[in-house]
Amino acid sequence: MTEYRTETVFTWGAPPLKFGVGALDEIGFDCAQLGLERVLIVTDEGVAATGVPHRAAESMQHAGLKPTVFAGVHVEPTDASFRAAAEFARDTDWDGFVAVGGGSSIDTAKAINLLTTNPGDLMDYVNKPVLAVVDPLTTLTLPPHVTASCGMDVLCHALESYTARHYRSYPRRRPEQRAVYVGNNPVSDAFIERALPLLSRSFRRAVLTGDDLDARTDMLLAASFAGMGFGNAGVHLPHACGYPIAGRVTHYRPPDYPQAEAMVPHGESVALTAPAAFRFTFPTDPERHLRAAELLDPSAGQVKDPRDRLPQAIVSLMRDIGLPNGLTDVGYVHADIPDLVAGALKQQRILAMAPRDVMAEDLEAIFASSMRNR
Ligand SMILES: [Zn+2]
Repeated sequence: MTEYRTETVFTWGAPPLKFGVGALDEIGFDCAQLGLERVLIVTDEGVAATGVPHRAAESMQHAGLKPTVFAGVHVEPTDASFRAAAEFARDTDWDGFVAVGGGSSIDTAKAINLLTTNPGDLMDYVNKPVLAVVDPLTTLTLPPHVTASCGMDVLCHALESYTARHYRSYPRRRPEQRAVYVGNNPVSDAFIERALPLLSRSFRRAVLTGDDLDARTDMLLAASFAGMGFGNAGVHLPHACGYPIAGRVTHYRPPDYPQAEAMVPHGESVALTAPAAFRFTFPTDPERHLRAAELLDPSAGQVKDPRDRLPQAIVSLMRDIGLPNGLTDVGYVHADIPDLVAGALKQQRILAMAPRDVMAEDLEAIFASSMRNR
């Protein structure tokens, strides 16, 4: 067998997907195909108020199943909210769980599945997702700020997997050591190069005219493409910095979200440091960063320094869709930087996907220049 010192192989994995207008109305059929009968629909109060979970329940009833709706998902869930949801589910012998909503519902459904079917604690397991059904009709009433935040998460997934460390730059792994995130690769590139033009064409429209079904369809398709890209390639700096930004918030309450407690929505938390992060990674592959900027914002004018091209495309998008202009807008001050750096440094698994080594000083500089982005 030939010996290679650096990696020469990448792997590809993706969950089954059903995409399109009206796809949700087939959920009863899909669940029946999986042999489910007693199904728990997992959602949050806001999504429940739109009637979408009940549409799913109706489709299940038509297929002869017995659905129950649980609307107690905590938006931006915590381990305590996961455990509380699992407590609710514990007394019934469910055949399956269907999440209706975004990441909060999906993650809660996975946690319920895990905690009600296995002994032990939350962090002991990672489970395989259920079929993913993506129906643009369900997003027509998503409020502007939520659309903006979720869209920025999609954009960061796309840009981070596009600029992640290349799979061939890792030391050669044995097959059983190969991780889920393999690094940037040609297949993830193909998905991201489709996702970015969709975001370019429809992101602003989806936020500003929420009932535009074409824009909503483009956004969900972009989310699916970006998901396939980052689900294999991995994400890096903006996500690593996003965790402490979301975790250490004290008083920021974004519009269109539940106002009971302070939060920085996931998409917003990752987007805030994205301009500075991509300025930092630019030297690793200028051409790739410029190509991403071109796909995202083909109409942008010239900039003096090419490393500003992608950050400026991101900043102008965030301005147009009404997102905060930097960490100061969500309540952080310069004195918080050491804490934020310490939090980001804990995300070593994600930082390892960055295309260059990241030291504490680098994170300090990224947080400092993200205090104000424009
Ligand atoms: Zn994300």
